[in-house]
Order: sequence, then C-alpha cells, then structure tokens
Amino acid sequence: MRPPDPPTDAVAPQAPPVIRDVPGQAQATAFLTRAVRQPHHAYLFTGPEGSGKRLGMRAFAAALLCERGGCGECRACRLAVGERHPNMLILEPTGPDILVGKDASDPNTARWFAARAYLTPPEPGRKVMVVVQADRLRIEAADVLLKALEEPPADTVFVLLSARPDEIADTVRSRCQEVAFPPLSEAFVVDALVKEGLTEERARLAGRLAGGNLGRARRLARGDQELTFRSVALSAAALASEGHAGALSAAEDLAAAAKVFRASLAEELAADLEPFLDERGRPEEAFRAVVRRMEEQHERRLRRAEREFLDSAMLALAAYFRDLAVLASGGDEHLLINLDRPGDLASADPRWPVGGAGRVLGAVEEARADLADETNLNLRLVLERLFLRLSDLVTAEGSLLAARYNR
Ligand SMILES: [Zn+2]
Repeated sequence: MRPPDPPTDAVAPQAPPVIRDVPGQAQATAFLTRAVRQPHHAYLFTGPEGSGKRLGMRAFAAALLCERGGCGECRACRLAVGERHPNMLILEPTGPDILVGKDASDPNTARWFAARAYLTPPEPGRKVMVVVQADRLRIEAADVLLKALEEPPADTVFVLLSARPDEIADTVRSRCQEVAFPPLSEAFVVDALVKEGLTEERARLAGRLAGGNLGRARRLARGDQELTFRSVALSAAALASEGHAGALSAAEDLAAAAKVFRASLAEELAADLEPFLDERGRPEEAFRAVVRRMEEQHERRLRRAEREFLDSAMLALAAYFRDLAVLASGGDEHLLINLDRPGDLASADPRWPVGGAGRVLGAVEEARADLADETNLNLRLVLERLFLRLSDLVTAEGSLLAARYNR
C-alpha cells in the first residue's frame, strides 16, 4: 500500500512544472503559481523585450488549461506552450497598431477578439485571451477591450503583455493585476544558454550581441551557427571603406543576404505547420483556427524577416565599432562584445579616433530606426545611405576601417 502523500502546502505552494520552466523570473513565477489556484480575470505582464513575458504567458495559459494544473506533459500543456491550444485566443498587431475593426468578423481586431470572449470555447474548460503588445491598442480598440474587462465572461482569463505599459490606457490598466518581468542579467542569459548546451564562449557572445535579450540570444546562437548577419555586415563595412562604389555594393550585398535569410525562414515555417495538416495538406478539423493563426503569424514573421536580419546586422556593426572604440581608448579585452574576435579587433588601425565612433554609431542607430519604421518601404535606400555615410566618415577620419574584417 502506498503511504499517503506528505502535506505539501506547509510551505509556499510548489510551482507547477510548466511554470517552473520559465527562466530567471522567481517573483513573477511565484505570483503566477498562486494565481493559478484562483485566477483573477485579467493580468498585465510588463517588462522589456526578451525578459520572458511571453514564456510566462504560455506557461500560465498551460497551467490554467491543463487538468492537472500545468503538468508540462499532457496535450493541453504542449498545445498551450506552443500557443496552439484551441481555447487560447491571441490578439497582436498586424501593422503598427491593433485596430478596433469593422465588426466581429474582422480578424485580428479588438471587436473580433472581444466577441470571442463571450463564445463557448472549442474545448471544455477555460478560455485564455491574450493581447500581445497591448500598448499598441488604438483608443477605440482599447475601449472595446475595456468593456470585456468590465463584464468579464465566466471562465475566461485575459493576459495582456507590454514592454511599454505607460502607453496603455489607465482604464484598461487598472482592471488588470500587474506582473513584472524585469530584464535578465547577462550572467543569467549566459548560464541559461550554457545549460541548453552551448559553450560558455558562444553563450557570452550571443548574450552580448543580443543585449541581454534571452530569446534573441538563443535565436542568434542556435539559428545561425555562423552568425552570418555579422560576417555579412562587417564585410559590407570593409567594402564601404573603399569608397562610394564600395558603399553601394555593400548595401546590395546586405540586402541580398536578407533575402536569403527570408527564404530559409519560409522553409522552416512551412515545416512547422506540417504536424497540423492531413495527408492532403489541409488543416485537421480541430486545428483549423490554430492553423489559420499560425499562417497569419508566419506571414507576419516573413514580412518582418528582412528587417529582422538587417537589424541584427546593424547591431553587429554597432557592436564592432563600439569594440574598436573600447580598444582604442585602452579598454580591457573582457569588455568586448565580439569576444571571439580579439585578433581582428587588435589589428585595427591604432589611429582609429575614438571621437569617430560616436558618429559611426549615430549613423547605425539612425539606420536601425529607419528599418524599424514599417512605413519605410525602401530598405535598400536606407542601407545605401548608411554605407555612403560610413564611407565618408572613413575619408574624414583617416583610415578608420583599416580594421578590415577577415572572414
Ligand atoms: Zn498538463
């Protein structure tokens, strides 16, 4: 005979396995562990990009939808963690903002979302309604959401995510319990990546290139073993140092590399969909809504793919010039971002003027802002302007780019 289980609630409640998997956010996960027992109707997860809000949301959703409270192993948990549970509905911006929409049939709008809050969920049990980037709700959209928050449907839990909670209407914000996800430390990011099997050196490099954003660091470290975005960016910068013709070729090379990245991502995403399709390539009945959402998500990712690649390239450029400045001003090697490239960096022209770094970094930052602006359709032009400016800075500052990058 099995002895009775020892009492478990003598101490703080044990986090369900699925919540225990959320890295580096002890306070938030402790809060969510308590919240699962008797959930409030709305939460707002706040914190910068990459701090784990979305992971926290998935885990919380799994804990709310799993019959065993978030075992991490059952079908409900797996689907929720993949954001594919039929009872999860996710609203996120498809363009710059989340719009109010014409009516409930206008997909990915506030009206569409709010109407679904009152429908019976596809599977028995709770519904989890998520708004990603809730600060991007237009005023009218926020009003529609507010009504749903004011008259919360039974068995429905809203989770709003935002890196800029101050931009959310107070009326909406005050209806939610806030859960903070503070930024992760570099030590934590490195440690997490090492536990996932990366070498310490590579983990530190990815962590620094990603500026402490664990998700981005993971993508950089795993998705792109060769760190193509960096080698392409630095070769382009070297090319730009040869003059204006080189600058234009540099822009062309980088734009072409971004297209290659987009194509490889498209293949990857198509493979992602496969498990949810039948032999004829059509979505299985139960997953129809999920597949539609995945397809929409894929479209969004693909639309942003080139910008994402170029942004990584810009960050790599900024990191490289910043490292040159660190060395030029006598800084120590362990302060470098490009820890794997001390040789290249050390061979940099000693006349590299530290003052020039500011102008180069300024030009790169401006290009990043232009690339992030989705109304800006001519990416090639942004790149040409950047590399022409870098090329001019070389002339103005002497042989700034004698720090040639050797692949
Ligand atoms: Zn489960």
